[in-house]
Amino acid sequence: MQPENKIVSDLLIVGNGISSQFLSLALLRTFGNNLKINVIDKDILYNNSDEYVRALSISLSTVNICKALDIWDKVKVYCYPVERIDISSISKSLLNDGYLQFNNRISDQIASYIINEKNLREILDIELENFNNIRVFTEDISEINIDQNHAELSTKNKKFIAKLIIAADGRNSIIKHLLGTKSITWDYKQTAISCVVNHSMSNPKTALEIFLETGPFAILPLGEKKSSIIWSASNEIMEGIKNLSTKELIEELNSKFDNRRGKILKVDHIGYFNLYFSITKKIIDQRVAFIGDSAHVVHPLAGQGINIGLRDVAHLSELIVDSIKYGLDFGSMNILEKYQKSRMVDIVSSAIIFDGINKFYSNDFKALEPLKDFAIRFVDKIPILKKNFVQEASGIKENSPKLVKGVPLNL
Ligand SMILES: Cc1cc2nc3c(=O)[nH]c(=O)nc-3n(C[C@H](O)[C@H](O)[C@H](O)COP(=O)(O)OP(=O)(O)OC[C@H]3O[C@@H](n4cnc5c(N)ncnc54)[C@H](O)[C@@H]3O)c2cc1C
Repeated sequence: MQPENKIVSDLLIVGNGISSQFLSLALLRTFGNNLKINVIDKDILYNNSDEYVRALSISLSTVNICKALDIWDKVKVYCYPVERIDISSISKSLLNDGYLQFNNRISDQIASYIINEKNLREILDIELENFNNIRVFTEDISEINIDQNHAELSTKNKKFIAKLIIAADGRNSIIKHLLGTKSITWDYKQTAISCVVNHSMSNPKTALEIFLETGPFAILPLGEKKSSIIWSASNEIMEGIKNLSTKELIEELNSKFDNRRGKILKVDHIGYFNLYFSITKKIIDQRVAFIGDSAHVVHPLAGQGINIGLRDVAHLSELIVDSIKYGLDFGSMNILEKYQKSRMVDIVSSAIIFDGINKFYSNDFKALEPLKDFAIRFVDKIPILKKNFVQEASGIKENSPKLVKGVPLNL
C-alpha cells in the first residue's frame, strides 16, 4: 500500500449527517485548525439534494447548542416557532374532551421550533468550509482494526488511522456491524410519510399531534400557510398511500386534516421512512464512540431523534475538550466510559417513553378508547404535569453539559 493511502488524523468520524457535522463544528470552534478531523461517508449528499425532505422539530437543547456554536442567528432565520402544542386522541373534533393544550414555553422562551433539514444542513456545510483541517471522503468501509493506542478503518485503497472513531453513521451503522455491537431492536411495522403542505388558512404557530387509530399524525407549522406533516401508519396502509396520485394524496390528507388549517392546496417534499426502535446495548467500544442514530433510533412521533443525538454531541465534545486540556488520551476507555455513563439515562428513558406512547395510541382496540381519552384529560387537569412535559421535551437539565446550556467550549 502506498504511504499516501495511509491517512492519519486525531479524530475519524464515520457518517456526515447532522450529528457528525455538529460534532465537527463544536470541536473545530474550540481547537481551530489544531485538531485534524477526517470524515468518511459512503454517500455524500450535496446542498441541493432533494433527499433532505424532512422538517425537523428542534428543542431548546438544540437551540442552545446552536447559540453556543454561534450559528443560532443564521439558523433562526429558517425556524418557525411553536408557541403551543395540541394533542388529541380523537380525529374528529377539536372540541372533544380528549384534547390537551400545552403552552410551549419555558420561562419566557419558546421551547421548540420547526426547521427544514435542508436549511440546517446548508448552514452547517458553510460553517465547516471555514476550517482547513477537516476533510470529507466518500468511501466504502470494509474493515476495522483497533489496538491499544489507535483505531484504523480500511477501504478498498486507503487506511484511515486516528485515536478515536466516532460512529455517526446512522441507523444502519457499518461500525456497529463490523464490531458486532448488540442492539435492542424491534420493527414497528410502520412507515412514516413526511411531506410539506400549503394550506388555505394561516398557521396559529401551533403543533398538532393527533393520535389516529392507525398511528400518530402530526401537523407542524413551517410558515404562514405551510406545514410539515409526519404521519405514521402500518406498512400496509402506507403501501396504499404510496400508490396514490398527488391529487388523491391531497384528498387523503385533507380527510385527516379535517379543515384544521383549511384546505390543503399543494403537497411536496414527500418522503417515506420505515420505522423501527433501536438502542445499542453500549454506546462505546475500545477507541469507538457512537452518537446520533447509530446509537439510538426513536419513533418520530415526538420529533426528538436529532435532539437526543445532539445531546450526545454536547457530552462527547466537552469530554474531548477537557481531555485535551488536561493532556489525557481522549480515546481511552476511561473517558469513553464517562461518555456512556452521562448518556444512557437520557437515551433509554426517551426511547422507552416514545415507544410506549406509540404502542398505547397506535391501535384500534376499542376497549382502550376511554383510557386513551382519560390519560389525556388526566394530564390536562394537572398543570405541573404539563409544565414538566414541556421541560422534559426541552432536553435541558441542571447537570446538562455546557453546549446544552448555551455555553461555548473553551480550552
Ligand atoms: C419521518 C421522520 C421524522 C423525523 N422528525 C424529527 C424531528 O422532527 N426532530 C428530530 O429531532 N428528529 C427527527 N427525526 C429523527 C432524525 O431525522 C434523526 O435522528 C437524524 O437524522 C439522525 O441524524 P444522524 O446524523 O445521527 O444520522 P443520519 O442523518 O442517518 O446520518 C448518517 C450518515 O451516515 C452515512 N452512512 C451510512 N452508512 C454509512 C457507511 N457504511 N459508511 C459511511 N457513512 C455511512 C449516511 O450517508 C449519512 O450521511 C425524524 C426521523 C424520521 C424518520
